Amino acid sequence: MRFPVAVAIALCFALPATAHEADLSLDTATQLLSAANIVSAPKVVDCTLSEGAETSCIQFAVKPEPANHAAGPWCPSNISDGADQGGIWLKDGAVLEADGAFFTILADLYDDDEWQLSDPATGAINVTSSAEACAAAARPDVDPAYNNYCVQCLTDYVDPDLVITYTIPLVPVAASRTSPINFGGAGVATNGIKLDGPAPVDAILDAYTIAPFDDCGGHVNLHVGYHFHAVRNCLEVSDLALDALVVGIAMDGYLITENALGLYDLDACNGHIGESYHYHTGADGSNQILGCLTAQTGCAVEGEGGVFDATQTSRPPRP
Ligand SMILES: [Zn+2]
Ligand SMILES: [Zn+2]
Repeated sequence: MRFPVAVAIALCFALPATAHEADLSLDTATQLLSAANIVSAPKVVDCTLSEGAETSCIQFAVKPEPANHAAGPWCPSNISDGADQGGIWLKDGAVLEADGAFFTILADLYDDDEWQLSDPATGAINVTSSAEACAAAARPDVDPAYNNYCVQCLTDYVDPDLVITYTIPLVPVAASRTSPINFGGAGVATNGIKLDGPAPVDAILDAYTIAPFDDCGGHVNLHVGYHFHAVRNCLEVSDLALDALVVGIAMDGYLITENALGLYDLDACNGHIGESYHYHTGADGSNQILGCLTAQTGCAVEGEGGVFDATQTSRPPRP
């Protein structure tokens, strides 16, 4: 079956495993993911990648909730709150503390007097306070009732049965072109959390909302749970003899290492050939963990096991 390139990126049929000898890559994936909230341990399955390559993939299912660090906080409740009661926001490549004071300077910061997230009399910040509110405020067409809100979805709002199944090639397979980071994300971190594409900051700001990330660079939506838009110092790292420590696995099977601080000449996807091709995460404030994916991609879908196809992953991006 062929799809136009634009939708083929997410194509990934994963059939029940045929017998494969355990190999170093399966061991490596298992070891890398030892801090993940694993629901179904890594195994090898047959898979079809984004450009149709039929190969072997590592498949595993995780609960999208970090097991090795806290999730949040995101929105402070009053302008007097300190940095420990809020998360971070990203602007022009910089990481800003989303503390109480941050919510008083938005009109200046974005040069627009419509910004007014706090009550001038009490200093209380407008914060979404229910699953319904976070769903309405975090959707692409923000409910206008939530203009001038700090948007947060708590981990408690997420379906406790939500799992994400990753199917990632064991050995990367060359692609005819690089892939943009699609709904499957850039990859998965060593704690089993999705390394996502850029947060849609412009759409968030257009609605006069701020959807902070916690100090680890993550926040929650109701569909994929907790996910990262920046990689900060919250992950278990592994030394796999690359030029930096490994923080995750990309959706095309290459390893993702820590930010290289400008040390190397990286391609548009944030990758380069060192000992072997690998990626480095973008700087904390870049809102771009990877720029694109170099090889054919596997997929990440909601739910566990079974057969996956592109229709399950072709949804618009969410904050
Ligand atoms: Zn490198
Ligand atoms: Zn997000």
